[in-house]
Amino acid sequence: MVPPPVTPKRAQQRRGEGQWALGYREPLNANERSKKDDNPLNVRARIENIYAHRGFDSIDPGDLRGRFRWYGLYTQRRPGIDGGRTAVLEPEELDDSYFMLRVRVDGGRLTTEQLRVIGEISQTYARNTADLTDRQNIQLHWVRIEDVPTIWEKLEAVGLSTTEACGDCPRVVLGSPVAGIDVDEIVDGTPAIEEIARRYIGAPEFANLPRKYKTAISGSPNWDVEPEINDISFVGVVHPEHGPGFDLFVGGGLSTNPKLAVRLGAWVPLAEVPEVWAGVTAVFRDYGYRRLRHRARLKFLVADWGAERFREVLETEYLHRKLVDGPAATPPDGPRDHVGVHRQADGNYFVGAKPIAGRVSGSILVDVAKAAERVGSRRVRTTVQQNLIVLDVPESELAGLREELAGIGLQTDPSPWRRGVMACTGIEFCKLAIVETKARAISLVNELERRLADVQDQVDQPISVNLNGCPNACARTQVADIGLKGQIVTNDAGEQVEGFQVHLGGGLAVDAGFGRKLRGLKVTAAELPDYVERLARRFLAQRTEGERFAQ
Ligand code: SF4
Repeated sequence: MVPPPVTPKRAQQRRGEGQWALGYREPLNANERSKKDDNPLNVRARIENIYAHRGFDSIDPGDLRGRFRWYGLYTQRRPGIDGGRTAVLEPEELDDSYFMLRVRVDGGRLTTEQLRVIGEISQTYARNTADLTDRQNIQLHWVRIEDVPTIWEKLEAVGLSTTEACGDCPRVVLGSPVAGIDVDEIVDGTPAIEEIARRYIGAPEFANLPRKYKTAISGSPNWDVEPEINDISFVGVVHPEHGPGFDLFVGGGLSTNPKLAVRLGAWVPLAEVPEVWAGVTAVFRDYGYRRLRHRARLKFLVADWGAERFREVLETEYLHRKLVDGPAATPPDGPRDHVGVHRQADGNYFVGAKPIAGRVSGSILVDVAKAAERVGSRRVRTTVQQNLIVLDVPESELAGLREELAGIGLQTDPSPWRRGVMACTGIEFCKLAIVETKARAISLVNELERRLADVQDQVDQPISVNLNGCPNACARTQVADIGLKGQIVTNDAGEQVEGFQVHLGGGLAVDAGFGRKLRGLKVTAAELPDYVERLARRFLAQRTEGERFAQ
């Protein structure tokens, strides 16, 4: 079906959404104005030539709170500003003169040399901070604008970059962390990830999208890149006539209006993934809604059009050919986090290690690189569960490596509670946060390990607990068994304190669906360990054979 004819009334409505393809080019909000006034990629030259020399106070506010994001730079939260006051403060009052810097790690693929360089940069320029994000990136904090050009130089010398790590553009391309070594792999998506990054990241044609644009590519039967909640996803599937390729999904995303991605019913061979990716991205660029920021993600266009029309526009206007119809990929029902020791296709092993909620440090990254190299490995991976994986470990080196990783706080046989907890950045550094998350996740894990040691052998799949500092759901509130959305709540003494709205029973893959936001179900931060303990004990006592928390 082709798009219906555009009647004057319809055109008026659609123009109201600010869609470029319908002729509407005049910016309808400040973000669109900023992008039109100057290509955000141009800010790099100003950082290198002006701001790094003249200091924080010389930075143009439009660059500081807008275009800097295209290079992975956000001002971090001024220390000591508490969540309760956020609503009455202007954004600039929350700005610290230090930055968070996000290093993009496409496909989660790092050499040990790259990992060591990130760690050393952290030690020298970022007060030894480092967080593994749930999108396979690594974030540093306390970065000064004066040091940014040197940091870029060091990153780029080893093939890393911060380009388009944030902003209204194609963010990091998620990839299966075990691509190319997984014994069960359907297809290795690595060549497509590398080609997309090479051709399109930092390219002017996609530097001004309506909003952020998230990609996931995995040929693993584990769906280990959360394809259900990305803007565009390619998921491994075998076509009965054509063989291995990808099932194409579009329009997933969480935040305040969550949607699961929908299948377009098309099978895409590996070699065509970059072209199809560019086609979908161009549909988003041209037809995406630009009037209201909260409706600008691709998921709103997909929800309005439906899969059939989206595919028709993609084929007719952008690819100029039909896609091949294909079968649906089968959702998995096991863990997707790669924690522990697993055999690779070549007979070596990969070892997945768990820091709590992704919190590591520059020193830990350097130590992981050294530990990996000591056992002959040159490859590490990041995962969307905030974990690290060391690849290519000979069997004879497994015990020593695991011991060394455990010694630096990365457990390869973690308790289910440690394994199940994730957290976003939270109030420590994020200006949008209402509550603390990382430190709370660490104390929650420690509490649960102490309190629930007697029942942990009964847990066959970790119960996921995702802590988010605000409604933006960066740590995937709605698809956790226990999703926690940070907000100020009233405690028993009538005081306003940090706490969480609870979403229960969300999941992905075979359990794909959003957790129920039970009316009035809120916990204070202080009550959180009691609450999770109660829920876990009740579930374990009452579940039927094989029942998962999300069911
Ligand atoms: Fe910041 Fe909110 Fe995202 Fe957490 S969920 S990182 S607090 S924007």
